[in-house]
Amino acid sequence: MKKHARPITGQMRGARILGNPHAKKQRDRTPIPPRYKKEDYLPMGQAFDQLLRTLGMPDEVHTDLTGWRLVRYIKHLYELPGMTRMTVFPNEDPKVDQMILVSNIDFWSACSHHLLPFYGTITVGYIPLKSIIGLSKIPLLVRELARRPTLQEHLAERIAEHLNMYAKPKGIGVHIRAQHTCQLLDLAQPPIPVMTTTVLKGVMRNAPARAEFLKEVQP
Ligand SMILES: [Zn+2]
Repeated sequence: MKKHARPITGQMRGARILGNPHAKKQRDRTPIPPRYKKEDYLPMGQAFDQLLRTLGMPDEVHTDLTGWRLVRYIKHLYELPGMTRMTVFPNEDPKVDQMILVSNIDFWSACSHHLLPFYGTITVGYIPLKSIIGLSKIPLLVRELARRPTLQEHLAERIAEHLNMYAKPKGIGVHIRAQHTCQLLDLAQPPIPVMTTTVLKGVMRNAPARAEFLKEVQP
């Protein structure tokens, strides 16, 4: 005779316990890894644990530290990094009056609306006036400005503002191509659509420079 299938209850490992009045007493699943300061992160870890319980996630070995993994993710994604000091050089001997482009800088960020990652590439162009920015500093600046919850539209503006603050060029272009993982909340399945945003400042808005920059950022 065929064995009777085990009933699916909250007692089973891996079963959902949402609303099960007979679910075993919850273990405290907030052991604090030593590298975190308790007073700063305990409430956040406990809140995530509560979220897991509300979702009906079982208390088991694989979820014991999930609350803390989420704390680590939040810390990694949203703690503001210190800003790199920008290096600028005088634009002379000889003077550069053409567009300088740094293309396809990989970056990741998180959208302010969902706190979920978005990632892609950023291209920065500028036409110098009195200063030239150290080449290695542009990717650093871009990635540091991305390391916080933001909107893609605002990130491009912020990059342009910082470049203007440091070098005051004649024109600036910032182009972002990114995929937002929050799109998966609404779409049935991947691939995630690509979002592009472009910010043009100063002479970069004028027809010849604009055309040159936009040609460069064509996919
Ligand atoms: Zn979003």
